[in-house]
Amino acid sequence: AAKAGGRNRYSFYTPSLQTAALARMRLSNDLRYALQEQQLHVVYQPIVALQTGKAVKAEALIRWQHPQKGWISPLEFIPLAESSGQITAIGDFVFDQALHQVAQWRQSLDPEFQISINQSPVEFQSDPARYQRWLEAMEAQQLPGQAITIEITEGLLLDASEKVVQRLLEFSAAGVQVAIDDFGTGYSSLSYLKKFDIDFLKIDQSFVRNLQRNNSDHALCEAIIMMAHKLGLKVIAEGVETTAQADLLREAGCDFAQGYLYGKPSAAADFLSLPCCACAP
Ligand code: C2E
Ligand code: MG
Ligand code: MG
Ligand code: MG
Repeated sequence: AAKAGGRNRYSFYTPSLQTAALARMRLSNDLRYALQEQQLHVVYQPIVALQTGKAVKAEALIRWQHPQKGWISPLEFIPLAESSGQITAIGDFVFDQALHQVAQWRQSLDPEFQISINQSPVEFQSDPARYQRWLEAMEAQQLPGQAITIEITEGLLLDASEKVVQRLLEFSAAGVQVAIDDFGTGYSSLSYLKKFDIDFLKIDQSFVRNLQRNNSDHALCEAIIMMAHKLGLKVIAEGVETTAQADLLREAGCDFAQGYLYGKPSAAADFLSLPCCACAP
């Protein structure tokens, strides 16, 4: 126990803070073995064209099956991977898996099929040689840039560094598409939309959730779709769970939808049996 005053003025840790920090440290340590022990997996969630209801792309999402703790959410371990520097190794793993998968689906499912890959801001600003390898891997598999969409968040573009601008230019030149993830939750500035070559806006699921009940959410979705189209961007609605939500979004002119209504993130082998897949009856 801390004595009052004196030399103990540094003992500001409360037991609960200490426990939480310790738990994070342990998890961060376990994460070091997750890749080599094959505890990380990539799952795929369909993104459908709202006009046809067919999947035209899939988002790759990482999963960690911890040997003791079971499934751990990326919301929990991606920040740990960012601070430990492991994010690039994990991101490379996701990329390699996703690239292999999209090459396969472009043969078996749809020659235009695309894959969407999340990039954390820390990751996006990492070693440029890494992305050079990505582009070379795509070329080696004879995949055009259009087969890949990179999902980034608004914050990254708000005060984009030289590195970020350079990376975006390289992607654009290679035909790689760029999507703004969780659109509408980050910042009020929209000026980055005219500065950069963006292809998709993904409307955050928080706006989609109460689409039927909440007039302002409905108005916001309509406004985002209208603005995006005027700027030449396509719109993907996230977190679509009901047909009522899908109907409202279609009426508002939304291009694509993603959510449990069409399919939960699933292993590649199960993806093809989803009703929204072209090869399903
Ligand atoms: P995100 O990129 O916005 O991904 C969408 C999240 O919404 C996913 O959560 C997905 O499972 C969930 N979702 C999809 N449809 C529905 C729905 O209808 N209802 C509800 N309630 N949720 C839905 P997940 O897989 O837990 O991923 C969370 C976040 O972790 C992602 O958000 C993304 O920011 C990050 N993440 C996931 N995989 C990666 C990765 O490989 N690299 C990086 N850097 N980040 C990743
Ligand atoms: Mg995403
Ligand atoms: Mg482009
Ligand atoms: Mg999102």
